[in-house]
Amino acid sequence: MTPTPAKLPATALSGPQKALHKLGLVRDIDLALHLPLRYEDETRIVRLGDARDGEMVQIEGQVTHSEITLRPRRQLRVTLDDGSDTCVLRFFNFYPSHQKTLSVGAQVRVRGELRGGFMGREMVHPSFQLAGGELPGALTPVYPTVAGLPQVYLRKAVLGGLSRADLSETIPGQFLSKNRLQPLCSLHDALQFLHHPTPDVVLTTLEDRSHPAWQRLKAEELLAQQLSQLQARRVRAAMRAPALSGPAMHGVHCTLQEQLLARLPFRLTAAQQRVCAEIEADLKKRIPMHRLLQGDVGAGKTVVAALAAARCIDAGWQCALMAPTEILAEQHFRKLISWLEPLGITTAWLTGSQKARERREMLALIESGQAGLVIGTHAVIQDKVKFNNLALAIIDEQHRFGVAQRLALRSKMTGEGQESGQEPHLLMMTATPIPRTLAMSYYADLDVSTIDELPPGRTPIVTKVVNEARRDEVIDRIRGQIDEGRQIYWVCPLIEESESIDLVNATQTHEALSAALPEVMVGLLHSRMPVAEKRAVMSLFTSGQMGVLVSTTVIEVGVDVPNASLMVIEHAERFGLSQLHQLRGRVGRGAAASACVLLYSTGDAPRLGETARARLKAMVETNDGFEIARRDLEIRGPGEFLGARQSGAPMLRFADLALDADWLAWAREVAPVMLDQHAELAQRHVLRWLGGKAEFLKA
Ligand code: ADP
Ligand code: MG
Repeated sequence: MTPTPAKLPATALSGPQKALHKLGLVRDIDLALHLPLRYEDETRIVRLGDARDGEMVQIEGQVTHSEITLRPRRQLRVTLDDGSDTCVLRFFNFYPSHQKTLSVGAQVRVRGELRGGFMGREMVHPSFQLAGGELPGALTPVYPTVAGLPQVYLRKAVLGGLSRADLSETIPGQFLSKNRLQPLCSLHDALQFLHHPTPDVVLTTLEDRSHPAWQRLKAEELLAQQLSQLQARRVRAAMRAPALSGPAMHGVHCTLQEQLLARLPFRLTAAQQRVCAEIEADLKKRIPMHRLLQGDVGAGKTVVAALAAARCIDAGWQCALMAPTEILAEQHFRKLISWLEPLGITTAWLTGSQKARERREMLALIESGQAGLVIGTHAVIQDKVKFNNLALAIIDEQHRFGVAQRLALRSKMTGEGQESGQEPHLLMMTATPIPRTLAMSYYADLDVSTIDELPPGRTPIVTKVVNEARRDEVIDRIRGQIDEGRQIYWVCPLIEESESIDLVNATQTHEALSAALPEVMVGLLHSRMPVAEKRAVMSLFTSGQMGVLVSTTVIEVGVDVPNASLMVIEHAERFGLSQLHQLRGRVGRGAAASACVLLYSTGDAPRLGETARARLKAMVETNDGFEIARRDLEIRGPGEFLGARQSGAPMLRFADLALDADWLAWAREVAPVMLDQHAELAQRHVLRWLGGKAEFLKA
């Protein structure tokens, strides 16, 4: 039976259908675009005498021996002879029916990996059937799948989708003839081919995706992405936002921004001034800002956000700041309160863990418009939150939020009494920079401001990679730092011991450090602690009473304790590069020389794996977030980079920005012309590829 999951309500779905949904395979076209991971060649029978060990082969022969042995484990052992050689088939799980099919004298066809065993050649758990059946004419696709979705079911579903999907041409011929690869096959032919390649195909052209069928898919995908971004940009350009130019009240001789600047204990860096000017210019316009502010950890993005907020509030509008974690939201809250409340700005605070009464009070402040600035976690975008007049939404660590959450924040503008079609300005902040070229070419709908210098007086962080065996030396070093009045972070990857992964957990480390440093207050912070407790621990550390903070990665983003000078990361080999860089950025925020120790363990292996080594090496060699991002890209490849980080962007499945720069250039050239001259085809193309995920459909 061919599944038609799209038409069924979610609750009526069978297990495999649910799994299909989980893979995002809902529409026929989604199924058609679900491409094989690899192929199996069942089109040929190989002679054992010609096959090499380690090869996946299909052979046919006669069973010459069959027995159940108990040593070393209960198993069915069958000997097969195809005239050129013999091979032993071993089954650890088997039914009487297996035994029957594989009884002595039977002619069978088996398929599996050939191994050169101690007792001769063998196959473990090969697939088998009676010999003599017709051989398939095309390679057999093997699809990426998830638990609960058997390959056979998935294969049927995909082929069903492929036969039903509308694969008619959406790219006008004039653009197809403009590309470098001629002839480019149609989408229909490309998909037919990739799902059933003929046995004569050179497999490497499928593996490295250089085959014309793959080229067609890459071109299609990149075009969809560019069309969607461009369309979003045009939709936005047609929308209106409040122009936040001058102060709403007259008679004030000094703007809020000027007052804030005068009160800061430091001067803005040139880079901060430049990005402030870029943001200012956007805020003055009647078109909603859509700007990404990127700057390395510690570059000073918060003050830039505060100045933008001051401009907004000065103009008589509300500003919202959303942060991904409570700790971070609270940090912002304290800092911004200390800057803005003396200027007469009322600040409201919203989190999930807030007491009902406090929350009611906050909601009232927000709805009445009394609160100029609203800070919080995801709680800010809940339905109950009604803004009086939101004009600027700021999202910190934006890569932690999805598109849906950003949109929800923007939609807060369409409250009652507001001009319809109005949108707030949007400022997204991130310490995970997108490499510049990528940002320019890929994110057509994003303006980017970059803080490319750190505040003065920072000494670079020295990073050391240390084997776990030298843990005691690290503890000595902690003592030294404590004696100098400094504070230390110690980060662990997991909070509870798991049987399968032998990780030293935060709790254990906390106990060990407490014992080793009896005179020091050692705190513990992890994500499963009640919020009140987290807050208490954090405030002890912020105030300087606590010397060492052992934590899981909850401190990854945004925490700012300038007196902390040493960051120890345990099992550093398990962290991603950008995460390591973020963590390291928690130190080196004050004037004191700071260090980061990357403790690693190789487990049972003699040495670290190659990518882990590359990551740790990159950490030692550079402190520059852009360089880190570049190396990360190199180590992981851009598809994964974008997919994991910029969760707002539709992930590229087929194209690879580094390898397919030509196709990206082609798509950038074609997209605007196609939108102008073939709007309907453009729409169909984007819908086909991005479905509900298309940016402009939500804009
Ligand atoms: P991030 O960009 O990682 O969010 P923060 O905004 O938290 O960085 O700033 C890091 C630290 O640098 C904070 O303590 C902040 O007050 C301080 N800071 C920001 N700008 C400057 C500056 N121009 N001169 C000196 N210190 C600054
Ligand atoms: Mg920050």
